[in-house]
Amino acid sequence: MLATGCRLLHASGLGRLLAPITGRRGLVFTLHSVRPDAGTQGFAPNRHLTVTPDFLEHTILQARAAGLRIVSLTEALDHAQNGDPDGPRVCAFTFDDGYRDNLIHAYPVLRKHEVPFTIFVTSGFVDRSSEIWWEALERIVRGAQSIETPIGERMRTLDASTSERKVRIYDRLLHWFTQELGEDSQRVELRRLAGIHGLDLAALADELILDWNELRTLCQDPLFTVGAHTHNHFALARLTRARMQEDIAAGMDRLASELGVSPQVFAYPYGFEAAVNHQSLEVVSQFGFRAAFTTHPGMLDGTSDRFAMPRVSLNGYFQDDVIVSQYLNGAPFPIYNTLRKIRDGVIPRRSCA
Ligand SMILES: [Zn+2]
Repeated sequence: MLATGCRLLHASGLGRLLAPITGRRGLVFTLHSVRPDAGTQGFAPNRHLTVTPDFLEHTILQARAAGLRIVSLTEALDHAQNGDPDGPRVCAFTFDDGYRDNLIHAYPVLRKHEVPFTIFVTSGFVDRSSEIWWEALERIVRGAQSIETPIGERMRTLDASTSERKVRIYDRLLHWFTQELGEDSQRVELRRLAGIHGLDLAALADELILDWNELRTLCQDPLFTVGAHTHNHFALARLTRARMQEDIAAGMDRLASELGVSPQVFAYPYGFEAAVNHQSLEVVSQFGFRAAFTTHPGMLDGTSDRFAMPRVSLNGYFQDDVIVSQYLNGAPFPIYNTLRKIRDGVIPRRSCA
């Protein structure tokens, strides 16, 4: 829906016309994985989380060409809260979870263009004690010829021999993991499936996720800022208040002891409405962060709730100039957010609650 809206705004010229109003004070981009083979065809259910280094570079150049100043996340916050509304707009780059390819493929691009950046680190992934389950599930389903899947009240072994079947099975398992199982049971089931299908979860984390030494190396660069992203990457809205506090505190403790930092910024795991409820905003606000970021799409302005800040995801399916130009204009988001509220039949009091 957002991509179609962007194309209509571009084709009609309306996006450019609205930009002086909708562009606000700028925006914060969210990325996850950055690697050259991001255009993988066939079964690649996490493709939306991956963009190419070329696209990242292009987006940096496009933002600057559109007159935005690329700044650190804390400078972007300063600008959103206290900046000159008539001054240049700003843009910040953030990367969630701590993918190793951020160092290998994104960092050279960011360094070349002197772009400040924040990685929101999930400390349990770096410790290899917690599982990046969506990547693991993709590997399991990709490699399986058949797989146990919950259908109705019982588990059934389904044929997973073609890409089409794998897509359907992955979607079913994703629903089971995120909406039927609790957050702890989700990881128990993941480990069980990994055992059955011979996937080494520690080796997968070594392949995909930065280690503490790599993060320490990044910390020496003033362009880099560490953000907090919990220890286990649980959807906070699905935890009790005590478990939320525990998982955020555990993440902060590990970042302090391994990197000697106490992050000023936090990103909610997943960041969408179902993962971030009012209680999680309250709990996060008690940790002394300057701000907390969702993945609710929108631009920066002085009126945003600083514990429910919007960000704009760069989606692997839509790596093109037209989409980015509309993101920079800011025109798609008020329209998109209004349509979603109408569709959902609710107008939340806070932007992500
Ligand atoms: Zn995340």
